[in-house]
Amino acid sequence: MKIALIAHDGKKADMVHFLSGYKNELHHANIDLVATGTTGSHIEKAGFKVQKLLSGPLGGDAQIAAMAAQKELSMVIFFRDPLDKHPHEPDVQMLMRICDVHNIPLATNPAAAQLMFEQLTSQF
Ligand code: PGA
Repeated sequence: MKIALIAHDGKKADMVHFLSGYKNELHHANIDLVATGTTGSHIEKAGFKVQKLLSGPLGGDAQIAAMAAQKELSMVIFFRDPLDKHPHEPDVQMLMRICDVHNIPLATNPAAAQLMFEQLTSQF
């Protein structure tokens, strides 16, 4: 199982905080993490093993969308910052569209991510 993680700059601390609540579950379950570059660095510093792709504005969101289109992802956690502007907004929209096209669970805020993770970790 592979989970993709992306957080805009204003939401990176939220992502680390969110994941830290599931550290034991993520370590013990057979779950691979993949993230956009800078998000991945933050997650790594928090003690998680994560595959880092390009930074979002340089194509990282597009790489994650490609993985989603190829059915390589079980879910996408994408903490967007709705109060900021993003040069790669077209990629953001494209990633969310691809998740919908392929019916891949997509959480865009911690409340939704928590519901998805509770469901996921209840299976272990
Ligand atoms: P980043 O990209 O993790 O490299 O900051 C995230 C994004 O802005 O899409």
